[in-house]
Amino acid sequence: MSYSDEIKKLKESDKKFVWHPFTQMKDWFEEDPIIITEGRDCFVKDAYGKWYLDGVSSIWVNIHGHRKKEIDDAIKTQLDKIAHSTLLGLGNIPSIELAEKLINLTDKSFAGLTPRLSKVFYSDNGSTAVEAALKMAFQYWIHKGVKGKQTFLSLKNAYHGDTIGAVSVGGIDIFHDMFSPLLFKAYKAPSPHCYRCELGKTSLECSFTCLKEMENILEKHSDEIAAVIIEPIVQAAGGMIVWPEGYLKDLRELCNRYNVLLIADEVATGFGRTGKMFACEHENIVPDIMCLSKGITNGYMPLAVTLATDEIFNAFLGEFKELKTFFHGHSYTGNPLACAAAIASIDLFDKEETLKNMRPKIALLEDRLKEIADLPIVGNVRNKGLIAGIELVKDKPSKEPFPWEKKMGWNVAYKAREGGVLIRPLGNVIVVMPPLSISIENLKRLMDVIKKAIIVVSSS
Ligand SMILES: *Cc1c(COP(=O)(O)O)cnc(C)c1O
Repeated sequence: MSYSDEIKKLKESDKKFVWHPFTQMKDWFEEDPIIITEGRDCFVKDAYGKWYLDGVSSIWVNIHGHRKKEIDDAIKTQLDKIAHSTLLGLGNIPSIELAEKLINLTDKSFAGLTPRLSKVFYSDNGSTAVEAALKMAFQYWIHKGVKGKQTFLSLKNAYHGDTIGAVSVGGIDIFHDMFSPLLFKAYKAPSPHCYRCELGKTSLECSFTCLKEMENILEKHSDEIAAVIIEPIVQAAGGMIVWPEGYLKDLRELCNRYNVLLIADEVATGFGRTGKMFACEHENIVPDIMCLSKGITNGYMPLAVTLATDEIFNAFLGEFKELKTFFHGHSYTGNPLACAAAIASIDLFDKEETLKNMRPKIALLEDRLKEIADLPIVGNVRNKGLIAGIELVKDKPSKEPFPWEKKMGWNVAYKAREGGVLIRPLGNVIVVMPPLSISIENLKRLMDVIKKAIIVVSSS
């Protein structure tokens, strides 16, 4: 069989056997799918040998680039010892070392602030990190003898994963509405989305009306609410919605005042994406529980952690028969290969001065976004660090969106492919989220291709 026949066969088998996530498979059948075979730095190669710039970090997971020697080596070294053993009743070395490293990292990030994150609970993806956080918060109040705190407060436009608990605190109607009969009841506060303010305010006269709505809910219902769960600073899957300055800090104070826990879902924002190691650092606040996943292993292996304070952890201590145990765990909890990859990835932040080196790239990205903002079908551009969203609109003055069925975001993404760039939009929002290690030159190229794709799509 010739090589091109082999690829053809692969594509046929993909269509025959693989059900892709978040994908209308009927459309997929009509597509000529790209099959990725290799990666290097911020590029991935398809089966025909064509290289593409990985403009969304393989869905927000890659930080230091593909085939990073230090991480490759760490996994190989661990593989020569053991691939997996369970944390249920046993320990393993990489999970111990990584937990210590994560606590040292949060100690450094949140130096001098309270509360202090001190314990690491492992799972294997962002959704499970959130599920663990929700159950931890719920059970915490029971152990404290506080009755009735049985639900949560979250935001419109929130995305916390696809498992049922995470969907219950989600706020993206198109993904979440149809599952409503399966979900637990949770309170929803307006999203601090200044470009599309639900409360009809413009930023000049708002003075955080959305936060006042949050406070109203807390005032009435805090005795039912175990925790507020948020994606700090950037609501990612909701459209890269960047919060106004001060909102997060005020929210932390509200949680203290109304005696509810604060869960920060940093699955997307963690590990440097926003220009700081953790997004909460931008406003000098510490959550009571923090979820991390996507960037943790540099996108090598599925791994997640839920960090908690001693205050929470200690509430679960008791005699065996008191049943205070945290009854939660997964088969691959604390997987040694994944933990070894995470340790190597975290070490690279110091070695390569990743955060410092991001600064000129963030400045470049912001310059290029400003140019793109002038295009007639671009309603809004927003970014924090190297996370950016470009919102396409049908009518700029009225902000009228393109009908979602027109797949405008996808039209731009398909055009960008022709220019050798892979991106995946969120509805009408073009996402820019390259590996943090991207070179200035490649970032320029990424933005050139995206700009050109928007122009071509708008004139067709
Ligand atoms: C992606 C994401 C999740 C879910 O993570 P999975 O690994 O896809 O389950 C949860 N929260 C946020 C903020 C995310 O961006």
